[in-house]
Amino acid sequence: MKPNIKDLSLQECEARLVGLQQPAYRARQIWQWLFHKRATAFAEMTNLSASLRGQLDEEFSISRPQIVRKEESLDGTEKFLFGLADGESIESVLIPETKRLTLCVSTQAGCGFGCAFCATALLGLKRNLSASEILDQILEASRTLAGERRITHIVLMGMGEPLANYTQTLRALEIMTDTSWGMGISPRRITLSTVGLVPQIQRLMEETRVNLAISLHAANDELRGKLMPVNRKYSLRELMDACRALPIPRRKRVTFEYVLLRGVNDSVEDARQLCQLLQGIRCKVNLIPFNPHPGSRFQRPTDLEVERFQQVLHQQNIQTNIRRPRGDDIQAACGQLQGEEFRNPQVQSLFTAEAR
Ligand code: SAH
Repeated sequence: MKPNIKDLSLQECEARLVGLQQPAYRARQIWQWLFHKRATAFAEMTNLSASLRGQLDEEFSISRPQIVRKEESLDGTEKFLFGLADGESIESVLIPETKRLTLCVSTQAGCGFGCAFCATALLGLKRNLSASEILDQILEASRTLAGERRITHIVLMGMGEPLANYTQTLRALEIMTDTSWGMGISPRRITLSTVGLVPQIQRLMEETRVNLAISLHAANDELRGKLMPVNRKYSLRELMDACRALPIPRRKRVTFEYVLLRGVNDSVEDARQLCQLLQGIRCKVNLIPFNPHPGSRFQRPTDLEVERFQQVLHQQNIQTNIRRPRGDDIQAACGQLQGEEFRNPQVQSLFTAEAR
């Protein structure tokens, strides 16, 4: 197997080209072909000499993950199942809205954080994705779009915890946002969601300008610790103190995600605690009514219960949106991504037993 050229860093690529008696700037030209013009073969790179194209072709491959399956929801949401070179599989979700087309990408195969309500957690962590595997989801999903349709927004909210795969995620973000040879997506249109890894959140906010979303899901340590084991490492106090201290520009806010689990974290008292917790933080809250999945023991609250919760936050002037589930009929909504293997009924019952 020839190495995948997208796995080199720009600097590594420059060094290889210099080794081939080429000027270093050729690396940027190649990057532009790969990520800006989205080439799938060296033969397309017409501003390189034919002999260089031949040399590159002998030494490197250009990765293209396989779309194993593509499903479309009644609401227009599409879910892609990608097969990776080593047999792992990941999912991405394309979400059309009036003025945007958002792609939700995965950063790990599986996830090791074990949130009690999440389908991906049942898989455990398989492995980190490489930067090119993160970017290939965008490239391949784009290739399926007809006519003038373009992906306008990226959310790192698919399978996995992006900040647990910090180096590769950051590399992918650099290529997504670079305007000269990268994909040229504005960081304002990119949102990274995390379970709340405090040191990495601080680094991310210093090193990038992407939007930050934090999965909160409970307003006290006891409950959050039960729902999200990560809370035992970084308590709410630490997380909130870090949020207050983040170098976030005036006009920006942190988003907090709060999955509403019926009878668990959705009472008026829970909402009041949440208001207290968020005091002094410029933020908005996304309420996500729980999306059921095979093996889950939680329930979604009624619309009325969701609105009751939202009202408490509104009374405290906290901007709060209710996230309508998208693609839930094809198991593509938040927390429903499980990849291929999990559809095997035997594996499924095994995991279900374990979850109980
Ligand atoms: N690991 C990151 C990225 C995943 S984002 C994170 O946890 O933030 C996916 C979002 O959907 C997270 O807020 C997650 O907590 C939420 N989620 C997980 N399972 C869910 C479910 N069954 N219903 C609704 N939201 C869920």
